[in-house]
Amino acid sequence: MDFAFDARTEELRGRLLAFMDEHVYPAEPVAEEQRARLASPWDTPAVVGELKAEARRQGLWNLFLPDAAYGAGLTNLQYAPLAEITGRSPHLAPTATNCAAPDTGNMEVLSQFGTEEQRKRWLEPLLAGEIRSAFAMTEPDVASSDATNIETRMIRDGEDYVVNGRKWYISGAMNPDCAVFIVMGKTDPDGEDIRRQQSMILVPRDTPGVEVRRAMRVYGYEDHSHGGHAEVVFHDVRVPAANLVGEEGGGFAIAQARLGPGRIHHCMRLIGMAERAIELMCRRAVARTAFGKPLAAQGVVQNWIADARVTVEQLRLLVLKTAWLMDTVGNKGAHTEIQAIKIATPRAVVDILDSAVQLYGAGGVSQDFPLAELWASARTLRLADGPDEVHQRSLARREIKRYG
Ligand SMILES: Cc1cc2nc3c(=O)[nH]c(=O)nc-3n(C[C@H](O)[C@H](O)[C@H](O)COP(=O)(O)OP(=O)(O)OC[C@H]3O[C@@H](n4cnc5c(N)ncnc54)[C@H](O)[C@@H]3O)c2cc1C
Repeated sequence: MDFAFDARTEELRGRLLAFMDEHVYPAEPVAEEQRARLASPWDTPAVVGELKAEARRQGLWNLFLPDAAYGAGLTNLQYAPLAEITGRSPHLAPTATNCAAPDTGNMEVLSQFGTEEQRKRWLEPLLAGEIRSAFAMTEPDVASSDATNIETRMIRDGEDYVVNGRKWYISGAMNPDCAVFIVMGKTDPDGEDIRRQQSMILVPRDTPGVEVRRAMRVYGYEDHSHGGHAEVVFHDVRVPAANLVGEEGGGFAIAQARLGPGRIHHCMRLIGMAERAIELMCRRAVARTAFGKPLAAQGVVQNWIADARVTVEQLRLLVLKTAWLMDTVGNKGAHTEIQAIKIATPRAVVDILDSAVQLYGAGGVSQDFPLAELWASARTLRLADGPDEVHQRSLARREIKRYG
């Protein structure tokens, strides 16, 4: 049985479920087919533009943004079940509804910390879905799960900053529609307070010296629909000081603020991925026979399905509790639960997808079903939003501190 949400959420859920059935699922094979015929695999298939127009027309747009001045004005608890639904088709539905990472985090940063001029130039076209953006923090040469290690330099020179550094796994940056990067670097590398050495700055993609060097792979996938994950090099890139986001030295704090909602959005969508895996498992189990009986009659298959259902129900409640806490006591008050869902959700969903892959036999690892790619993207989330171990460390330290 479904959890009952408030009337507005239920109404949006109903419309989003219908949008998925009528538009998103049918568009999945179309997008694949169109991509194969594109001049560049990084271009966006036409069907994605059509989905965006339809979602916007139906008011299923910018649902993630709690600030009603810019987005739908939903709380985290209201957004959670909607993000779960879009997670069932993670390559199309978040983009269709303008709720895809990394744009979501970037829009949040610009809405909270951007100047009027920055909001006009970058936030407005992002909200309208006219451009995409990327967030450039991680560097191949240093352990980037610890943001104090970042080596990119952003040195003030008159009215400008000059940026030098090498980043990788910059999601979305291969997409030609990605018009701007929010870059994290050090403006005060020798500063006494290591959490005040970093700043964030907006770098338009077409600035001289920006080199989008290559697409990094994820378990062999290039993640075209996500705009890939690029290695990007900044060679003496000069941008006006007015491009600084927030104050000089404020980069670390903005990164922390950006990660709060981003973390929970990934977990909400992961639950949708797990629901899709359960549905696919059940469909396959009743439709296929081995050694004289349907796969559904095998005890081991029943165990996989039962365990998956139990796990998803547990995870969903923990994610909803976390969303509710973020709404009521703030991200700081929800610290333990945010870390907990971050640790628990990708790990458990990877296991569910692994069972689903096994149930599908060779089809499970093939390109004919979405399972292998879903597995890779769920597995990746054990790193992409900060490694599991960093969340475990953070949760454990908070827990232990209570005992002196
Ligand atoms: C698909 C994908 C998309 C990404 N998108 C982006 C993006 O858009 N922008 C961006 O800036 N970055 C992005 N990243 C990078 C991601 O944020 C980093 O990979 C992550 O923060 C870890 O940094 P690192 O790779 O340097 O690993 P490291 O910091 O080198 O850590 C390596 C390992 O060390 C261990 N470890 C680290 N710290 C601890 C600790 N405190 N306790 C115990 N063990 C520890 C963990 O096992 C960890 O996995 C993406 C990554 C992937 C895979």
